[in-house]
Amino acid sequence: MGKQLFAFIDTRRTKMKIAIYPGSFDPITNGHLDIIKRSAKVFDEVIVLVLVNPNKKGLFDIDERVKLIEKVTSSLENVKVESYNGLLVDFMKERNSRVIIKGLRAISDFEYEFQMALMNNKLDPNVETIFMMTRAEYSYLSSSSIKQVAVFGGCIKGLVPDEIINEVLLKSKNL
Ligand code: ADP
Repeated sequence: MGKQLFAFIDTRRTKMKIAIYPGSFDPITNGHLDIIKRSAKVFDEVIVLVLVNPNKKGLFDIDERVKLIEKVTSSLENVKVESYNGLLVDFMKERNSRVIIKGLRAISDFEYEFQMALMNNKLDPNVETIFMMTRAEYSYLSSSSIKQVAVFGGCIKGLVPDEIINEVLLKSKNL
C-alpha cells in the first residue's frame, strides 16, 4: 500500500509542467502581468525569470525587479519569481522545465523572438517556446516606453500594476 502511494506521487511529479517566462521586466508592466496570469491557468507552475543582461544598466536592479514582480503576483499561488545570471537553457535544466513562454505584441517582436526560439532549441532540443498573443489593450506597452513617460512625471496608471506606480515614478524621477 505504502509503495503504491509513493509511486502515485512520483508519477505526478514527473508530469508537472513548469513553464519559464523570461525577460528583463524593468519594470513589470500590465502586459507582462496579463501573460503571467494566463500562463498560470495553463501550466502547473510558472517561474517568472528576471535574466541578467550584463550589457544593460536598467532602471531597477535585479533584486528590485524581483521584489516588484513578487508584490504584484503574490495572490497567484503557482507563480514564483527568480533571477538568473546565465543561459536560460541551463536554468531550465536545473528546474526540469522544457517550456519557455513569450509574449508577442507586434510583427516587430516576431523576428527577434523567432531567432531566440531557434537558438534556445539549438542549445537544447528538448526546449520548446510557446507564444502567447498580447491582449489588444496592452499591445502598445513596453517597459522602455513606460520609463520614458515616467521620467517626465506622466501618468502611468493602467500601464503598470497600481501597487508599483509610486515606486516606478519615484525611481524614474531620481534618474
Ligand atoms: P519589454 O519589451 O517591455 O522591455 P521584456 O524584455 O521584459 O519586456 O519582455 C519579456 C517578455 O514579455 C517578452 O516575451 C516580451 O515579448 C513580452 N512582453 C512585453 N510586453 C508585453 C505586452 N505588452 N504584452 C504581451 N507581452 C509582452
